Amino acid sequence: MERFEMGNFDIAVIGAGHAGCEAALAAARMGKETLLLSINLEALAMMPCNPSVGGSGKGHLVREIDALGGEMGVNIDKSFLQSRMINTAKGPAVHSLRAQADKARYHDEMKRVIEAQPHLCLKQAEAVELLLEEGRVSGLVTRTGAIYRARAVILATGTFLRGRIFIGDSAYDSGPNGLAPSVALADDLKAKGMRLRRFKTGTPARALGSSLDYSRMEEQKGDDPIVPFSFLNDSLEKEQHSCWLTYTNEETHRIIRENIHRSALYGGHIEGVGPRYCPSIEDKISRFADKPRHQLFVEPEGAATDEVYLQGMSSSLPEDVQLRFYRSIPGLEKLEIVRPAYAIEYDCIDPVDLKLSLEHRDFPGLFCAGQFNGSSGYEEAAAQGLMAGINAALWLDGREAFILDRSEAYIGVLIDDLVTKGTEEPYRIMTSRVEYRLLLRQDNADLRLTEKGRALGLVSDARWEKYLDTKQKMEAELLRLAETVPPAAETLAFLESQGLDPGRAAPSLAALLKRPQLDYESLAPLDPQRPALPRHLIDKVQVAVKYEGYINKQREQVARFQRMEQRQLPEEIDYEEISGLRLEARQKLNRYRPRSLGQASRISGVSPADINVLLVYLEKLRRQEAQ
Ligand SMILES: Cc1cc2nc3c(=O)[nH]c(=O)nc-3n(C[C@H](O)[C@H](O)[C@H](O)COP(=O)(O)OP(=O)(O)OC[C@H]3O[C@@H](n4cnc5c(N)ncnc54)[C@H](O)[C@@H]3O)c2cc1C
Repeated sequence: MERFEMGNFDIAVIGAGHAGCEAALAAARMGKETLLLSINLEALAMMPCNPSVGGSGKGHLVREIDALGGEMGVNIDKSFLQSRMINTAKGPAVHSLRAQADKARYHDEMKRVIEAQPHLCLKQAEAVELLLEEGRVSGLVTRTGAIYRARAVILATGTFLRGRIFIGDSAYDSGPNGLAPSVALADDLKAKGMRLRRFKTGTPARALGSSLDYSRMEEQKGDDPIVPFSFLNDSLEKEQHSCWLTYTNEETHRIIRENIHRSALYGGHIEGVGPRYCPSIEDKISRFADKPRHQLFVEPEGAATDEVYLQGMSSSLPEDVQLRFYRSIPGLEKLEIVRPAYAIEYDCIDPVDLKLSLEHRDFPGLFCAGQFNGSSGYEEAAAQGLMAGINAALWLDGREAFILDRSEAYIGVLIDDLVTKGTEEPYRIMTSRVEYRLLLRQDNADLRLTEKGRALGLVSDARWEKYLDTKQKMEAELLRLAETVPPAAETLAFLESQGLDPGRAAPSLAALLKRPQLDYESLAPLDPQRPALPRHLIDKVQVAVKYEGYINKQREQVARFQRMEQRQLPEEIDYEEISGLRLEARQKLNRYRPRSLGQASRISGVSPADINVLLVYLEKLRRQEAQ
C-alpha cells in the first residue's frame, strides 16, 4: 500500500467515542493542533448501550467533567429526554443525577461542537499503525495509507479493538451496532509489545415501542423541577418522556434456564471477562437463583424513533430464545425485536501499565483513555478522555501532569483505582469506592474543580463568571445564616409551632438549620430578609450547614491522607536495592513505580511494613541530601 504524508498535528486522538471527544476538545481548547479520527463518524459519541448519562457515582463524574470545562454535562442538558435525581432517600453524598438521553441528538450535538472547535480537525479514517521514533510516538498511519505526524497520540478505541460479537453460537468480527471493528491496529500494538487482554460486555435487545403494552407496566416519570447537569444551566424546561417498569417471572427464568447451554457465555464461546456490576439476565438467573423476579426498565432511545431499550436484560442467548423470554414478561407479550441482544469481546490494556497522567509507561507520548483502559461506561470514558487530553497537552509543553487525587474528585478515585490497583474486569465507578464522598458531592464539583479547569485554560469566561457568582453568593449566605439571630420571641413561637424543643440560647439561623426537622424553606418565616437564591445554591448552603461536623471530620481524614500523598517517591528508585522490603513488594513497586508513599500503600502486595521500610529509606535519603 502506497503511503503519503497528510498532515502534522500536536496531538492525534484515535477514537471519537466518549473518551476521544473529551480528549480532543480538551487538547484543542488548550491550543493544541488536534486530529480526531473515527473509523465511522456515526460512532462519534455513540451510545451503543444504555440511553442514559449519569446515575450512582457516574453523575458525580459528569458534574466534575463539567466543572473542569469538559463537554458531557452541557451535551446531555441539550439532548436529554428525562431527568431524575436518584438516591434522594439517602444522604447528599450519594445523591446522583441520571438523565435519559436522546442518542441521535446526543451524537448530533457533540458532533456539532467538535466540528466548530478551533484547532480541532475531525476525520473518518481507521488508524492501522502507530508510528514510533526512538521508542516515542510520532504519529499514525491509516488504512488508506495516509500518514499523520503527531508529537503525542491518545488511544481511545473503546469496544472496537478486535471487536467480536456473540449471539448464541454465532460469532463474528464486528464493532458495536454492526460497525467495522479495528483489527489491524490491535495487531500492530501487539507487535510493538503492548500487553493487551480480552474483556467483554453485553447489551439487551432493542424493541419496537409500539409493540409493547404499557398498561401492564409502572410508569416512571422525570423530576419536576429538572436539575441540570451543567453548572452553566440554572434551570431547564422540557416535556419529559417516561420510562416503564416491569418484571421477569418464573416462566422467563424457566425459558432461560432450559436454554442456558445455548448462550455464548455459558456455551463457553466467550473468553473475555465481563462486568460484575452489569450482569446479563443469564448471569442474574444463575447467580441469584432464589430471586423470583428481576426488574426491567423500558427506556426511550430517542424522540424521533420508536426503538426502546430493555434495561437490565442484556443477553447472548440466540434470537429465538431472546424472543421467547422477552415475550414472557408482562407488557412484552407481543414484543417485536428491532436489534437483538448481544455480547461483545474486545482488546484493552491492563491500566497498571499507565502512569497517573494516563501516559503509557512503555510508549512515551502515548496516552490512553476509556474502555481501552479497562473501564466500562460513557462517564468513566469521558472523564479519562478529558484527563488524557489535558495531560497530553501539558506533556508537550514539558509541564507537570494534572493529577487529581482520591480526596479531590471521583475522577481521582477512578484513575487511581485503575492505575494503582488495576482491574480484572470492566471497571465501573461507584460511590462505595470513594472514601471521602461527603466532600466529593456532585453539588459542589464546581467549587472543587472550576479553578483548576480555569488554570488549565479549559474554563470559558461565561463559566468562570458564573462560578465566581456562585462562590460569592454561597459564602455570603453562609456568613449571613451564621450571623443572623432572629428575635428570641419569634424563634420561640416558631419552634413551639413546629412542636420542637426551644433549647436555651437564641440560636442563629445556621444553628436552627442544623436541626434535622428544619430545612432552608421551613425557616422562611423567621428570615424575611433572605436573598432570592437559585435552587442549586440553596442545596449547597443547606448541605454545608447541616453536615458541617461530618464535613470537618472528613477534612481531617483528608489531611492525614494527603500527608502520605505528598511524600513523593523519586522516579529512579531501584526497589530491588532496598533491603527490608519483601520480594513481592520490590517486584510490584518496580513495576508500578508509584509517585508517592500514599500510592505505594494502595498497591496490592505492598504491606504496611513495606511502607515503614520506605519511610525509613526516604528519611535516610533526606538526611544524605541535607549533608
Ligand atoms: C455491547 C455494549 C454493551 C455495553 N454495556 C455497557 C454497560 O452495561 N454499562 C456501561 O457502563 N457501559 C457499557 N458499554 C460501554 C460503553 O459503551 C462504553 O463504555 C463507552 O462507549 C466507552 O467509550 P469509549 O470512548 O472508550 O469508546 P467507544 O465509545 O467505544 O468509542 C470508540 C471509538 O474509537 C473508534 N475507533 C476504534 N478503533 C479505531 C481505529 N483503529 N481508528 C479510528 N477510530 C477507531 C470508534 O470508531 C469509536 O469512535 C457497552 C458497550 C457496548 C458496545
